[in-house]
Amino acid sequence: MTSTLNITPLGDWLAVSDKPFVIAGPCSAETEEQVMETAFGLTGISQVKVFRAGIWKPRTRPGAFEGVGNSGLKWLHRVKKETGLLVTVEVANPRHVEEALDHDIDILWIGARTVVNPFAVQEIGEAIGGRDIPVMIKNPLNPDLKTWIGAIERLNQLGLQKLVAVHRGFSFFNRSPYRNAPMWEIPIELKRLFPNLPVISDPSHICGNREMIPATIQKALDLEMNGLMIEVHNNPVKALTDKNQQITPVQLREMLSKLILRRESGSIEFENKLEELRSEIDKLDEELMDILARRMKVVEDIGTYKKSNKITILQLKRWNQIINDRIEAGEKMGMSREFMLKLLQTLHEEGIQRQIDVMNRED
Ligand code: PEP
Ligand code: MN
Repeated sequence: MTSTLNITPLGDWLAVSDKPFVIAGPCSAETEEQVMETAFGLTGISQVKVFRAGIWKPRTRPGAFEGVGNSGLKWLHRVKKETGLLVTVEVANPRHVEEALDHDIDILWIGARTVVNPFAVQEIGEAIGGRDIPVMIKNPLNPDLKTWIGAIERLNQLGLQKLVAVHRGFSFFNRSPYRNAPMWEIPIELKRLFPNLPVISDPSHICGNREMIPATIQKALDLEMNGLMIEVHNNPVKALTDKNQQITPVQLREMLSKLILRRESGSIEFENKLEELRSEIDKLDEELMDILARRMKVVEDIGTYKKSNKITILQLKRWNQIINDRIEAGEKMGMSREFMLKLLQTLHEEGIQRQIDVMNRED
């Protein structure tokens, strides 16, 4: 994937002084009092620059609270006027865009359920038209980097340059302590492909509970995410949506005060030492690749040998034995079972493919 994005740096449209940059506010706007009380609770927290609240709520099943709709826009307008915070809402269709922009909403965001649909993203982008509004794009529900990138590219091609990606975790079928598995490798790959695109993290929807939020925030910052979107409610236990994951403004302040802010680079001495360790890694990777290439060559030789003797490729007994032996040996060397299993499965898949290629090759 080799596209580039025309992105206006975050710092050009937002005064980010105290790091990390934080967007905070309730999952849903419920009443004018709840919105105003939460917003005023956030005003003393210097990292909070933007107030969020959902007013059109995408719910998994009908019948649940679906947001207060347009009336919430007036409350957000009040927040903007009375606290000086910028305000943002989720939009899912062109009508939402029109309503939000009519009420001077500063930033729009597109939710995980909408980003999966290119038609919807296109329509939202077109409804924004030429207006120079920042848009945040959550990752799609499923762990699909291409769809996430596609939505960002689509908006960028429609002329929107103040774009921010929001990592909110991915729906994942296996058991996991998270509501949405973070799969950090996906936002990291997004940052690698588009270094000028700000990527912020939404620990509330990743965790789904209050307890895991502090460690998840720390991890996001250690992985150089450019900010945070956190759900904050004046009375979380009474929240109409996502009540298990919302925290109070006081709790947010405390969590932010405990964060360790690491620099992305350090002193000359530090850089030199880092360089030394990195070149060690480079050397080891070279050796590792040489060994892997040699291993693949042997796998192909085995394939050729099986072919001439008309033997099948997959030899389950041998494969089981390899898994057991190597996992045990790996554990003795300090590597986890999960890591060894993933590594062996990757090697095995590639090995099988090589042997299939050998079988199909014309002699
Ligand atoms: C939200 O931010 O409240 C929300 C609905 O998020 P997501 O689209 O990430 O589920
Ligand atoms: Mn929510």
